[in-house]
Amino acid sequence: MSEVDTTNVAEEKTPVIEPTSELPPTSTEVSVSNDEKYEFFKVIQDYLDQAAKVVDLPEHVRDMLAQPKNEIIVHFPVAMDNGKMKMFKGYRIQHNNLLGPYKGGLRFHRTASLDDFKALATMMTWKCALMQIPFGGAKGGVKVDVSKLSDAELMRITRRFTHALGNNIGPEYDIPAPDVGTNAQIMVWIMDTFMNQVDHTQKNAQRGVVTGKSLTCGGSQGREKATAQGVVHCITEWAKDNRFDLEGKTAIIQGFGNVGSFTALLLSRLGVSTIATGDHTGYMRTSEGFNAHKLADHVKKNGSIKGYVGGESISREEFFSTKADIFIPAAIENQIGEVEAQLLDVALIAEGANGPCNPAGERILAERGIPVIPDVLANSGGVTVSYYEWVQNLRSENWPLEKVDARLETKMKDAYRRVSFFAQEHGVSLRIAAYGLALEALKTAYAERGIFP
Ligand code: NAD
Repeated sequence: MSEVDTTNVAEEKTPVIEPTSELPPTSTEVSVSNDEKYEFFKVIQDYLDQAAKVVDLPEHVRDMLAQPKNEIIVHFPVAMDNGKMKMFKGYRIQHNNLLGPYKGGLRFHRTASLDDFKALATMMTWKCALMQIPFGGAKGGVKVDVSKLSDAELMRITRRFTHALGNNIGPEYDIPAPDVGTNAQIMVWIMDTFMNQVDHTQKNAQRGVVTGKSLTCGGSQGREKATAQGVVHCITEWAKDNRFDLEGKTAIIQGFGNVGSFTALLLSRLGVSTIATGDHTGYMRTSEGFNAHKLADHVKKNGSIKGYVGGESISREEFFSTKADIFIPAAIENQIGEVEAQLLDVALIAEGANGPCNPAGERILAERGIPVIPDVLANSGGVTVSYYEWVQNLRSENWPLEKVDARLETKMKDAYRRVSFFAQEHGVSLRIAAYGLALEALKTAYAERGIFP
């Protein structure tokens, strides 16, 4: 029998669906900007409470939305290249499906934790409700360092995780998508595994089990850049409101993966140059602006910005102090705390990442008068085009890029206007306005449907 490596595996049976009330206190292992533990889910719950007051949310609705409906944890063995078996831990947190099937990304990251996934799943509910797309919220992933895996190992982990999730996902039930550490190839492996688990007569009806697939396997035109495109639409709307000419302006971007690299590229088309960037390996700066195409190609080949010759290495502190017009966090949560918020020398922050500002950082940004376009609005272009992909799969259609782009632009600009108007009307931040609009939609749906039975 092969050896089984059970490092990092807790005692749960497989699969476990844990009722929220019986859960032990969560531990947080997020990669933080300082040494403190970060309770990401608690932060999201606090925003919920602030927005609940603004929209007069009934207490029972608040209580339902304060916890995910299902918390699924699976442990599964995978054959590694060295011939040994290793156990992995996977999660799927299904926060709410009142407005439609659960929807949200899968994150493969070494620090993945239950607390993070609960926070991220909850934010997906707000995003879909705000964007008026018929989905609920979910998030999940695997606790693994993808940089240490071969492609074959990554594929086996993905397939075995999909198998372990079983019918906890499905095109009419819960639809994953890419997030940190996952991409179109991983989505295609999930789709293929899922298709092979159903009766062969039903195979092709399962294509919509994931979004963010490659074009040949049922993906949508425009999905890869969609999140960044949405961020850029928000920036252009903000610029219009503030009579801020983007031509000739500068940006700094933290994270140069899907969201970061496409944001740099799309901004460059508007005349905005990215003069500093960074990722999990370090930070870089160039006064001339990075060539976004070249840097993105380097990251694709090497897995990070490390070794790129078109910029000088700088410290994290120097990155945050770089004077620029716009800052786009596009890495992970809890990156802008008090220290970073004091260092930043920008006119606008547009949150490509989920939860990049922590509450202490956000308070300082507010005091300093630096506006923040919040994650729930700014990065919702991804789930919006995921919805278009899902519709195309259901109808066996293939929309041209122009149609996807035009629909996304209308949706993003409409959402930006609604959030901006709500913020002014209620005298709240754009973040609380985005939450408030999402909660109003959920409040109405709960009032109309009532609580079963
Ligand atoms: P990705 O894996 O393609 O890129 C993540 C980037 O963050 C990489 O450059 C990585 O090196 C960097 N990074 C990771 N840890 C870091 C750290 N500690 N310090 C600095 N940099 C670090 O992921 P992505 O899809 O671009 O996602 C980025 C963010 O955007 C996440 O918060 C994700 O939840 C959010 N988001 C993504 C999508 C999407 O469609 N991909 C949609 C909405 C929101």
